[in-house]
Amino acid sequence: MSQHHILVINCGSSSLKFSIIQPKTEETLLSGLAECLHLPEAKISWKYQGEKYQAQLADKANHADALNFVTNKILSDYPALKQSIKAIGHRVTHGGEKYSQPTLITPEVIDNLATLFELAPLHNPANVMGIKASQIAFPHLQDKNVAVFDTGFHATLPPHAYLYPLPIEFYEKYGIRRYGFHGISHYYIACKTAEYLGKPRSELNMISCHLGNGASITAIKNGESIDTSMGFTPCEGLVMGTRCGDVDPALLIYLKQKLDISTEETSDLINKKSGLLGLTGSSSDFRYITEHYEKDEKCRIALEVYIHRLVKYIGAYAMLLDNKLDAVVFTGGIGENSELVRRLVLQKLTILGFELDQERNLSARFGQYGQITTDCSQHSAYVIPTNEELVIAKYTAEYI
Ligand code: ADP
Repeated sequence: MSQHHILVINCGSSSLKFSIIQPKTEETLLSGLAECLHLPEAKISWKYQGEKYQAQLADKANHADALNFVTNKILSDYPALKQSIKAIGHRVTHGGEKYSQPTLITPEVIDNLATLFELAPLHNPANVMGIKASQIAFPHLQDKNVAVFDTGFHATLPPHAYLYPLPIEFYEKYGIRRYGFHGISHYYIACKTAEYLGKPRSELNMISCHLGNGASITAIKNGESIDTSMGFTPCEGLVMGTRCGDVDPALLIYLKQKLDISTEETSDLINKKSGLLGLTGSSSDFRYITEHYEKDEKCRIALEVYIHRLVKYIGAYAMLLDNKLDAVVFTGGIGENSELVRRLVLQKLTILGFELDQERNLSARFGQYGQITTDCSQHSAYVIPTNEELVIAKYTAEYI
């Protein structure tokens, strides 16, 4: 076993994903998920050498408890693996305008990240909790924690893409602008696509569609993000599992008055009760929609709204690339696995010269990737599985 591995941590408010990665060989040695944190049913599951394991965590276990379990229970069985961890890479959602590059975590950086809680109240506090928990669980690596930012790849957005047409002092005073998210995934997809097409990333022009529970789409010109659908928060843009994406901003004012709901309830409405869940009234899970849309009217409509919005974005972003569209790439749980979404989208893009190869489309699933358009298609579309953990591991290894 090579002696330089990176532990990658990705914290949500009630979950903690972890993996141990060999950045050079790109091999994932161990991966797992602690979920239902802060609840009585807190649990943890992990995969090592092809075997799956799970365990109950203590009642209302928190992020630090979960990481203690990783180090004192899981890794105590594999001391060589434990010793081979040389640094810890953290996914941090929001870097604001200050942090676009991977950053070594110091007490000052933690303080600065706390000032960004206001901008990402649903994500950054959990990320910082994960950083602090790692420093406790791995005290000998305290000065070897690196933050990799989900906003980082979008630092290249030009002002005409990141400014909202609001009074300009809101940007100047409060930093209200489009930041964009899923940057780690869009960056990985850009690198893989460049590799796949055999051209340098600096010459790559493409549209990256990350379609998971959260979803975003990015226009990439000469290898750099020039526009992206998520905005000031990850709620803007495409239809998502439970987030509404683009809506008329004035309708929130109307709803707040009509329903007399608090700010928190309004936030829950647009972040947790809308999107596919809101439209179907029953599920945010795309597999449910795939299984039911032929018989269930609400699922059919949800699918149509989802596709309509996605097609609109791809069409608009294609116009930003000066006629040099090398590829449209689908990734994320839905992008990688739903032949239905890819088929419906590409069938609507014939005016852009996409010709779907349905056989290729059907076989591109479960981690397989490749081209899903015909060889004669004027423009090409691909499925490429994303790997955000690998990007974080590589950046962390480079940094350390
Ligand atoms: P997250 O944003 O939480 O990382 P994922 O990228 O894991 O989300 O994507 C989750 C979504 O992918 C869910 O809506 C799930 O239903 C969908 N999905 C997973 N497998 C399939 C499949 N075979 N067909 C259609 N949708 C799928």
